Amino acid sequence: MRVVLAERVSPSEQSHLNELEALAKTMDYEVVGFLKQVKEPDPAYQVGKGKAQELTGLVKETGAERVIFSNQLTPSQAFKLSKLAGKEVIDRFQLILEIFAKRASSPEAKLQVEYARLKYELPRVRERVRALLSVEQPGFRGGGEYEVDVQYDMIKRKLANLRRKLKDISKSREQRRMLRRKRGFKLVALAGYTNSGKSTLLNALTAAGAEVDNMYFTTLTPRTRAIKSSQTVLLTDTVGFIDGLPHWLVEAFKATLEEIYLADLVVLVVDGSDPIPEILRKYSTSKDVLQEYPVKTVVAINKVDLVSKQELQQKMEVLSRLSSSVVQISALKGTNLEGLVDVIRSNV
Ligand code: GDP
Ligand code: MG
Repeated sequence: MRVVLAERVSPSEQSHLNELEALAKTMDYEVVGFLKQVKEPDPAYQVGKGKAQELTGLVKETGAERVIFSNQLTPSQAFKLSKLAGKEVIDRFQLILEIFAKRASSPEAKLQVEYARLKYELPRVRERVRALLSVEQPGFRGGGEYEVDVQYDMIKRKLANLRRKLKDISKSREQRRMLRRKRGFKLVALAGYTNSGKSTLLNALTAAGAEVDNMYFTTLTPRTRAIKSSQTVLLTDTVGFIDGLPHWLVEAFKATLEEIYLADLVVLVVDGSDPIPEILRKYSTSKDVLQEYPVKTVVAINKVDLVSKQELQQKMEVLSRLSSSVVQISALKGTNLEGLVDVIRSNV
């Protein structure tokens, strides 16, 4: 799908367009255009009216089928923007929900994602119903209270239902892990922030087309493959960490990390081209989440091809203080992948 990415930031705010692009690529979307505006938020369109019209032009020009905003949109903003642009307009959180839904492979993860989606919708029901009614009934002035109540109750009932189901799902993870062990396989999960290079590393370490027979691993995603030089070690990609996840999305995110629950070892991929404070911040966030899983972790500093020797030395020192096992690699250039495989082998 062809998409345009849009963002409005206040003068003091940082842009998140790069991250949004990485997220869009996770869904295999083709990014065909960008729209940026530095301005305080506009209640009607999030961006200013003129910029919204510019967006319409950009959508036509590029043949985009969808617009994704980095900002959180109110239902009425999304509604107005999509009327103007003639295409669907969603925000970053809806994109993240799509990614989670795509990656959720267990029944539990699927339910968690659906739960998060309804949580997102609940506070928006009133505004969405009003926006819809005002179009269907020109001159509409009332609040559509009845319709709002009906929708509200329906979502609440669904949420209660999901909570019950989630409670009922038995924890069969350990069983699945044992089964795999009995068959002599080890599972290594790649974790790390979006854009750190997990997918590139998965491709570099595994033979293309060496998809593992899904019969044995029905509970795992199709992205699980055997390491080229060690056919009993399976490698699996996970959905990346994302900054600024609201609390209602965090549980869904964790549920999509189930590969980590099942893994014998986690390779935490760190983007070595980030500045040290950024590396430390991302590392500690990742560790906080990983702490909930009783799994051994080794660290791979990736993208060393982008870093000077001296800089790398400093980053290595900083990370070595935090983890006993740190390997420097370049997934893209294929640098020191043997070193990483050795570390993996000696840890599983
Ligand atoms: P993921 O989100 O963690 O799966 O990251 P990707 O594997 O999609 O990589 C994100 C971006 O970083 C892509 O543009 C890759 O080409 C790039 N990348 C990954 N590994 C390296 C590396 O070792 N060196 C350089 N220079 N770029 C890399
Ligand atoms: Mg990836």
